[in-house]
Amino acid sequence: MTKYIFVTGGVVSSLGKGITAASIGLLLKSRGLRVIHQKFDPYLNVDPGTMNPYQHGEVYVTDDGAETDLDLGHYERFTGITTTRNCNYTSGRIYDSIIGKERRGDYLGGTVQVVPHVTTEICDSIRSVVTPDIDVVICEIGGTVGDIESHPFLEALRQFRQQTGRGNSLFIHVTLIPYLERAGEVKTKPTQHSVGRLREIGIIPDILICRSEKHLDKEVRKKLSLFCNVDEEAVIEAMDVPNTIYEVPLEFAAQELDTVIIDSLGLRASRRNLKLWRDYVDRVTSAEREVSIAIVGKYSELLDAYKSIHESLQHAGAFHNARVRIVSVSAEEIEQKGPAEVISGCGGILVPGGFGSRGVEGKILAVRYARENNIPYFGICYGMHVAVIEFARNVLHLKEADTAENNPATPHPVIHLMEEQKRIMNLGGTMRLGAFPCNLAKGSFIRKMYGKEQISERHRHRFEFNNDYREGFEKAGMALTGISPNGLLVETVEIPDHPWFIGVQFHPEFKSRPIDPHPLFKGFVGASLAGKGKQCE
Ligand code: GLN
Repeated sequence: MTKYIFVTGGVVSSLGKGITAASIGLLLKSRGLRVIHQKFDPYLNVDPGTMNPYQHGEVYVTDDGAETDLDLGHYERFTGITTTRNCNYTSGRIYDSIIGKERRGDYLGGTVQVVPHVTTEICDSIRSVVTPDIDVVICEIGGTVGDIESHPFLEALRQFRQQTGRGNSLFIHVTLIPYLERAGEVKTKPTQHSVGRLREIGIIPDILICRSEKHLDKEVRKKLSLFCNVDEEAVIEAMDVPNTIYEVPLEFAAQELDTVIIDSLGLRASRRNLKLWRDYVDRVTSAEREVSIAIVGKYSELLDAYKSIHESLQHAGAFHNARVRIVSVSAEEIEQKGPAEVISGCGGILVPGGFGSRGVEGKILAVRYARENNIPYFGICYGMHVAVIEFARNVLHLKEADTAENNPATPHPVIHLMEEQKRIMNLGGTMRLGAFPCNLAKGSFIRKMYGKEQISERHRHRFEFNNDYREGFEKAGMALTGISPNGLLVETVEIPDHPWFIGVQFHPEFKSRPIDPHPLFKGFVGASLAGKGKQCE
């Protein structure tokens, strides 16, 4: 029988609920249990695909083509499990489904209400991830207890627990224990209040994960246990980890969090095996070398905008026993100051996915700089588009070459709208999304890197390489090495005469895992370490 763990958050946002849920998934998996994660986001967008990175950070894409919350990236990276579109629901998606049913007449003359219709829809969506082989569903509720928007979700969880029987579900509350410098002590009151809010809804948490800057001594744990109604061994401390987020599960394991969960849910589990995970963390902590890699994007100031790329670079760095120092560069700064001034010290240059014209000329300058100075270049999606534009302008001498995305009137649309996109009017969920196969050309550099002929990678784009220009590019020295099985779409480009220059139409960053780094990131970081460029100060 499937068991359920619900992860809620209290006091403030940004406590790392996603990493907590992901860590719990890893720990249970390390005890031989089969888990799946799910995230509920209380906002009204149907999915985050239409939100900009200032609002939302990265949009993570699943194999089955859903645009989802970036926490799904954590879940996949920690557990190695492939998520699906049912692993992320928003209020918008829940309401969209209910309104569709209402319009079809499914409610047979009834009044449609938050309770029971919205809550039932939420309970049904929890069950949508359950298959016979799943032991535990770990379901994270976005937002903070007390938010108006989260309320229907919490009410649904209360009902769900009631329906599935008490011993079959567990509530884990992630909370903040602030340290007051003046008083010289940590304070439990905000947690007591937030647990109080949960109790008002009829939920009593079973486990507290306490984010804190200081260690929690015995007295504090006792107090939390007494006032919040949780067992003392279920008060788990979660201090910031020094080196990498992948240390979090190890900290939890040291406090036997997995055992507390397994005992409470009456699960049968094997002994914990975290050997590969510990090896990974050791490699990160003991890395002796360092390399700087510039990510040239539109949102250089936003840590979350290119989350999966940051993680993938770290995974690859650990593989090479090296620390990757990420230099977040604003493409607009390159437009103003020139590439030499901004990125000259970096070992490698990466242009990530993106949309629209802001900063695009800066990205093109960065590509040129990498190409002409033999600095490893990795272009992802938009980063492949700008590599193609740069090559067209400066090698093929098509000075006005451009992407039709920014310049529909260009005489040389080397990147143009995909045929299937031409009739699409709505913005939400309409890009070419999800995993597609791609064949890699014999003898190509990229095929050597992957070590196989056919790959599958995830996509999120509307524009593509214009096939009218294939011959010109190939002749001038840009090889089109990855092609869709029907022969119509150019998915990867490379410059064989350059030490490491690859552009890919897909997003390899979604499939890199700490203990199984992505071959392209391994190759790119390896080449960047080989030292074509100097180190950044
Ligand atoms: N803006 C480009 C397109 O829509 C690239 C998208 C991306 O980088 N994800 O095709």
